[in-house]
Amino acid sequence: MKIDVSSIVKINGASLDVKFDEAIAELNDLESGFVFTDVVKFEGVLTNASGVLKLNGSLKASYSVKCSRCVKDIEDNLELKVREDIIEGSETADVDAYTYNDNYILLDSILKDNIILNLPVKKVCDDNCKGLCPRCGTNLNEKTCDCKDDYINPQMEALKKFFDN
Ligand SMILES: [Zn+2]
Ligand SMILES: [Zn+2]
Repeated sequence: MKIDVSSIVKINGASLDVKFDEAIAELNDLESGFVFTDVVKFEGVLTNASGVLKLNGSLKASYSVKCSRCVKDIEDNLELKVREDIIEGSETADVDAYTYNDNYILLDSILKDNIILNLPVKKVCDDNCKGLCPRCGTNLNEKTCDCKDDYINPQMEALKKFFDN
């Protein structure tokens, strides 16, 4: 979504309400496994502070992702505060900052970056999730399998013999 900031770029202290209520398709191109099923919502204000446009607001996005232990689907929300400075873009300056060009801000990429930075690295359905058996794939939350009994830790076996004697 393009935001026209022409009404505030020339006036120090001027502000503009910003509302965003759209899907951000690029979020679903991530390799992270997070799927954004609904629109991303954002409400905030852009304020001109001596030529720097300060974006302040709250973002909400819902996503689904698979439990990293048992691959069950998890639905969750991400809520965060967004604070970014946006400077006037120029073709010569090679700056690592958000810019506005021709009096427009592209809000999508700013929101997208904020979402990606705030996603959890791993997500589990429950802290006590037992996960899948690495050998047979049984969901150990639902039932047990016999695999564990096959495996004898050689150190434990030696210890057992020691105590048996
Ligand atoms: Zn799980
Ligand atoms: Zn198993």
